[in-house]
Amino acid sequence: MPDSARGQFYLTAEEIEAWPAATAPGADHKAPLRRALMRNGVFDRRQTGGRNWAIGCVALEITQRCNLDCTLCYLSYHAEAVHDLPLKEVFRRIDVIHDHYGPGTNVQVTGGDPTLRKRAELVAIIRRISEKRMRPALFTNGIKATRDLLAELAQAGLKDVAFHVDMTQARKGYASEADLNAVRLDYIRRAKGLGLDIIFNTTIFDGNSHEVSGLVRFFIAHASDIHLASFQLQAETGRGVLGGRSAGLSQASVIEAINRGAGVPLSFDMPWTGHPDCNRYTGVLTAGGVVTPLFDDETLFAELFRRTARFRFDRVSWPHRLAQLIAIIAHNPGIWPRVLGYGLKKAWQLRRGLIRSGGRLNKLTLFIHNFMDAQKLERARCESCVFMTASAAGPISMCVYNARRDTEILKPIVDGNSGNWHPLSGKTAPGADPGMPELARKHLKGRLKAADRAKRPA
Ligand code: SF4
Repeated sequence: MPDSARGQFYLTAEEIEAWPAATAPGADHKAPLRRALMRNGVFDRRQTGGRNWAIGCVALEITQRCNLDCTLCYLSYHAEAVHDLPLKEVFRRIDVIHDHYGPGTNVQVTGGDPTLRKRAELVAIIRRISEKRMRPALFTNGIKATRDLLAELAQAGLKDVAFHVDMTQARKGYASEADLNAVRLDYIRRAKGLGLDIIFNTTIFDGNSHEVSGLVRFFIAHASDIHLASFQLQAETGRGVLGGRSAGLSQASVIEAINRGAGVPLSFDMPWTGHPDCNRYTGVLTAGGVVTPLFDDETLFAELFRRTARFRFDRVSWPHRLAQLIAIIAHNPGIWPRVLGYGLKKAWQLRRGLIRSGGRLNKLTLFIHNFMDAQKLERARCESCVFMTASAAGPISMCVYNARRDTEILKPIVDGNSGNWHPLSGKTAPGADPGMPELARKHLKGRLKAADRAKRPA
């Protein structure tokens, strides 16, 4: 559909500022998402959102500070100037996430970079999420994520560690994504054996889209250590110096590149994880260098998703989750022939690799997240959003939150009877924020820093 025809689909600036936070759903946590996906015509047998889970994840930003200045940073101009939210407020937001989406919810502990938060507070935040039987994930650029810290966080209940590594970070001494594999291997070594699922997030932009196939080959070759690889498409939102993506970069172009890297046809059309214009998801099974698609039997998986819709899988322990799935299959003789057929087909496709690997089989999830430009937020996708950010008012679509980020992070937080906590001063005081609205040079990043540099004589 040409951009001109989509005009009416984009939220206006007023609508972005007024976009409401999600309301608490009542007994059925999945109902609000299911209704939104149905309303927008994307709830058929492939859809798992609103059927098997209530929300994809909720980002919990525990600091706005970062030790990098990525060229596609989604943070806003005041990010470095605001103080970290008080722990009490972070805990309140964790409780709100639990009220909205229930146990098993993926909670992304992020920022900025969460490792810049005081260590004891970071540990307490992870423990709080885990005590609620939700699934805490640490989203970090890894620079300060030592093995010692990851081990302590794993002790506190951390389940996933998602390392953001790519060329938008301008790390010194690395000229390509292939060079950055050395960093990825170092991060795997830091996290391996701690009971954590390792995830890699890669921003795909015009500067590295030619390396997607190579990245996929790297991730598949290390599928015994890596649980998920997420490819996040360039979007014009935030303070980053790089603007929007070129017309040649799209979900389709990235899917094509991933297929070239995997060497097998991956449809990315089963299952759906929210609005298909937002997210594309698939998985591969691999053994001894042989790769085969995971979801290439739509009828079988649609049936499994339908039969497990009311079932709450243990999102914290995968061996228990596998046992739960086997029990469900055992109690559904109707699908035995199809499951058996699928199993035999996979064993045949992987036979040589399984012989080479001594029977060792790995699964890797591949995910494409298609963030929207801040000025081009499509109503249907924002309504069907499965990636939320925890705000003072409750969970909000991440794309909408990003588009009005400075408004959100500069909002005073009600602090009981002692007035408001103010982000710029970090103090609780009645009335307006006593902090400096003007940005100090040390707080400049992204486009403002580039502009400031350009103004100053060399
Ligand atoms: S964050 Fe944006 S792109 Fe992602 S699911 Fe939500 S609306 Fe879609």
